[in-house]
Amino acid sequence: MATVTNGEKFDNIIEIKNVTKVFDGITAVDNVSLAVRRGEFVTLLGPSGCGKTTLLRMIAGFELPTSGSIFLEKQDVTTVPPHLRPINTVFQKYALFPHLNVFKNIAFGLKLKKIPTGELDKNGKPIFRKFGKDEIAEKVERVLKLVNLEAYGYRGITGLSGGQQQRVAIARAIVCEPKVLLLDEPLGALDLKMRKEMQSELAAMHKNIGITFIYVTHDQEEALTMSDKVVVMTDGAVQQYGTPKKIYDEPANAFVADFIGESNILSGVMKSDFCVEFCGTKFKCMDKGFGKDENVDLVVRPEDIAVDTKKGALKGEVVSAVFKGTYYEMEILANDYQFTVQNTSEYLPGTAVYLSVEPDGIHIMKKLKTVNEFDGKVLSENTLEICGGEFEFENSLGLERGDEVTVKIPFDKIDLTDDENDGYVGANVTQTLYKGSYYQVQVYTDDDHDFFIDTEDEWDIGDRVGIKIAPRDMTVIRKSDEPEKVGEASDTQEDANATEADNV
Ligand code: ATP
Repeated sequence: MATVTNGEKFDNIIEIKNVTKVFDGITAVDNVSLAVRRGEFVTLLGPSGCGKTTLLRMIAGFELPTSGSIFLEKQDVTTVPPHLRPINTVFQKYALFPHLNVFKNIAFGLKLKKIPTGELDKNGKPIFRKFGKDEIAEKVERVLKLVNLEAYGYRGITGLSGGQQQRVAIARAIVCEPKVLLLDEPLGALDLKMRKEMQSELAAMHKNIGITFIYVTHDQEEALTMSDKVVVMTDGAVQQYGTPKKIYDEPANAFVADFIGESNILSGVMKSDFCVEFCGTKFKCMDKGFGKDENVDLVVRPEDIAVDTKKGALKGEVVSAVFKGTYYEMEILANDYQFTVQNTSEYLPGTAVYLSVEPDGIHIMKKLKTVNEFDGKVLSENTLEICGGEFEFENSLGLERGDEVTVKIPFDKIDLTDDENDGYVGANVTQTLYKGSYYQVQVYTDDDHDFFIDTEDEWDIGDRVGIKIAPRDMTVIRKSDEPEKVGEASDTQEDANATEADNV
């Protein structure tokens, strides 16, 4: 498996190699590999439960990986305890000492710190010393200045605002000069205004002190505005790793496109290099190298769709228009697809309009999956087992009990039921994507299988559902009849890694 690296000529301060963490059967982090360059501001971004904090805690040393390794400056630190790593962490809850003033809170770690003198005692062991009063004062004054709290050293902690307390927590974490600062949703407890202020202060602080920052957030705007690089995660795996611009302009897949910014995500077909068909219309695009008539996902950002009343590629009608301060956001129905469009001119609901997109406004993405495919076993003449559930099937091949089979089910041939007992297998909704005229829903079964379902019904992430499949909609192939698979498509993590490797 390819490791995400930034090229050997760069100095990677942290390298995470094939790291997996399983808690009681739940895979929180799934075979993650990535490298962080010295001095970078890297953000782990993803929805709640995607494994960001677990990955951060493994870098800090608070959790041991189930498998894989973590390197810091080329040294394997996978099992090194937190206090022996040159890493410090700032948490959402500041955990300051309320009975100590700002100065003493920051000085606390410095007072305990033992510094090697470079000399050895008579037994050959290194001699350590402690920082003197003046040294401590100088260091604390310096970080107070960095976090804009110069005049606050002798103030009590309890009288400070949330933002000020968080700055004290950051000062306390950087005063011991760690090589890496980990920040776990450090602005999560602040109100919106304070959060915005602290975002720019943090970015400035990072530039001034030159320490490597690894930051965790589920807020995509925060990630895009502050970071040098963003790691987009879902279900414990890296979906994409790249600069904020690359991730916004060239999302690796439909999940990233949906998670980052507003977007129209549609299914299309590559007719040839530089030509994609969607909404029944051919469009010029900038992408090549896909198979002829390959099914693809594509993203068109709302600001990249031009609106005209006289001419354009797609004829449509404005459904709604809302003023958003500097532009109008409109829903426009064209060929049964509902597009979100942003334009500085307003077109009133009911207006007939034409939509156009320039080739560089269309971004083509490989489909994560084109059909649901599972390994199964025949249970009886007309029942088989897949994903821990028993399903009826049409046995046209004369299959017998115990036969190993592959079962394929198209996305639009699966029914989701509100009551999980109505289905053959229970699952949780993990993702939903609106694709212009239908929803693509991803569900995760209790025995760790992903199903993709195309449906007109709207489901929410976290909904508990049952899965139903009509016998006629399952294609069942005897394993021994299958042609050997050569050069199969890589999994998502590898795609993400390959994408990054391409980016560099
Ligand atoms: P959030 O933004 O909500 O903090 P996250 O992306 O940081 O989410 P994690 O906290 O890393 O996600 O959790 C990933 C998964 O691992 C979740 O399903 C969570 O319930 C599980 N998990 C995390 N820590 C533990 C633990 N100590 N024991 C059992 N399961 C855990």
